[in-house]
Amino acid sequence: MDKNADIAAKLQALRDDYAQRLPTELAQLRILVNDLIDPELRTPALTQLNHRLHKLAGSAGSFGFTDLGKQAKKLELQAQEWLANDHLDMGILRVFSVAVSALGGDLQAERNNKAVPLISHTSVQKTNTLIYVLEDDLDIAEEVCMTLRHFGHQVEHFATIAAAETEVVRRAPDFMICDIMFIEEGREAPEAVMILQQHLPAPIPVIFVSTRTDFDAYHAAVKAGAVGYFVKPLDIIRLVDCFEHYLDRNRSAPHRVLIIDDDLALAEHYKLVLNAAGIHVQISNNPQVIFELLQDFHPDLILLDINMPGCNGIELAQVIRLNQDWLRVPITYLSSEQDVEKRALALARAGDDFLSKPLNDRELVSAVTTRAARSRQLSEALDRDSLTGLLKHSRIKEQVDIELSRTVRGGGDLSVVMLDLDHFKQINDTYGHPAGDKVIKAIAHLLRQRLRKTDAVGRYGGEEFVAVLPRCGRDEAVMLMEDVRRRFREISFSAGERTFNVTLSAGIAAYRPDMERADQLLQEADAALYRAKSEGRNKLCTNS
Ligand code: GH3
Ligand code: MG
Ligand code: MG
Repeated sequence: MDKNADIAAKLQALRDDYAQRLPTELAQLRILVNDLIDPELRTPALTQLNHRLHKLAGSAGSFGFTDLGKQAKKLELQAQEWLANDHLDMGILRVFSVAVSALGGDLQAERNNKAVPLISHTSVQKTNTLIYVLEDDLDIAEEVCMTLRHFGHQVEHFATIAAAETEVVRRAPDFMICDIMFIEEGREAPEAVMILQQHLPAPIPVIFVSTRTDFDAYHAAVKAGAVGYFVKPLDIIRLVDCFEHYLDRNRSAPHRVLIIDDDLALAEHYKLVLNAAGIHVQISNNPQVIFELLQDFHPDLILLDINMPGCNGIELAQVIRLNQDWLRVPITYLSSEQDVEKRALALARAGDDFLSKPLNDRELVSAVTTRAARSRQLSEALDRDSLTGLLKHSRIKEQVDIELSRTVRGGGDLSVVMLDLDHFKQINDTYGHPAGDKVIKAIAHLLRQRLRKTDAVGRYGGEEFVAVLPRCGRDEAVMLMEDVRRRFREISFSAGERTFNVTLSAGIAAYRPDMERADQLLQEADAALYRAKSEGRNKLCTNS
């Protein structure tokens, strides 16, 4: 706990420090703008200005000055245009000059206090992932490094591409997070990383972070081996999510493939080949049990033989497609059918594509891997609410179900929390819907930060959230949620000139051995929430 408080304090100190340095930085910008009037000084001033605006555009938003960051970005683009054309329009310069003077006019009001410390409630395990962070903006670098370290990773920072190059060759990291433009060095990271990748035994996954949103920047990132791209101002939580997700995907969540084929020997062969590539496989020659299989196994991909007695593959695909629950799982026919007409007819009925038998092992593995990965990616995107990135209603309910069954089978604790923002309608009415959305995002952020990786959080309704906490008993759940409640109350939000705070109420239901259905847990959590509301709000209640 002390360590957490310590990190929270350090992050806060970083932000305060940044805020303190801002006025000096803004004054520097104004001096440079004045220099633009002098033809002698113009080019060096413009170069400096471009550099500093770029840096400001990248960092301000990350430290809570969103509007300032956006404004700086606009001005940077103007400076770039002047540099590129080697011509400066005096009329535009006047407007530019006024805009620079106005930068950060009301820093205090703008600072929309999103300084929620990044703390999770259990100590994080050491993962021993070595990450290199290439970032010439030292403020951003420090925040990213500190956050990643807090999540248990080993992190090294490089302020120049040159320094990183030497070290990558000496000791390759498991992962890189790279800014794109290194203006002082006069280089761009994607080119350098692309060349580095060619000299490494295995490519290093990279997430690029930049203010640039042009096609060329994305394209260069892809060529350099990007697995992610984040536009500044940096949402560090999302960055860490993307990164952790990438590691998870490559470590602990094997793809699942269901194969239905009447030739069990062949299916068994496919299974062995796919297993060897780390893919989980379930096989069956009985179309009748398809729904049970889907329910138990939750495949990412279904492979269907076409010619089967009784119910053929095409009919089976149609059966599966009639059930709304499995619409998202792709169906691939495994067939020796070469006739284009017949294939087209099959696809017109149901199913998504064909793999031709005979398939060699390599083809099978690569065809299955790409399809399963794509399917997993899509279904994860579908499962998440777009405003908050949390699980959607149906998925979080399913999660209660899954964890309850697990607990019934394996014993242990389980708690379910239902959480609702207090008087939220009034918040919307008073400060506007966009301000309300900010509040919803903030609670989602906070919940994600405070919960363990094995916990699940969903947006249950508009301003209602559900968290599923496996292996977490009543007392621990209360402690955790008390902490969330207190931290949330402390966050101040801004809408125009006004600032406000919001509170939340929550109901906690702890699992008892007499519980058999997920609904019971949810109902008891809801009843406890109702009690918390009627007892005055800004409060937690539990089931008995
Ligand atoms: P209580 O303390 O009893 O929970 O009162 P309340 O006002 O929070 O509860 P009520 O359920 O009456 O109102 C919920 C409000 O949440 C109404 C709706 O406009 C707002 N809301 C729901 N979803 C969103 C959203 O996505 N964005 C915003 N800004 N508001 C939302
Ligand atoms: Mg409410
Ligand atoms: Mg409500």
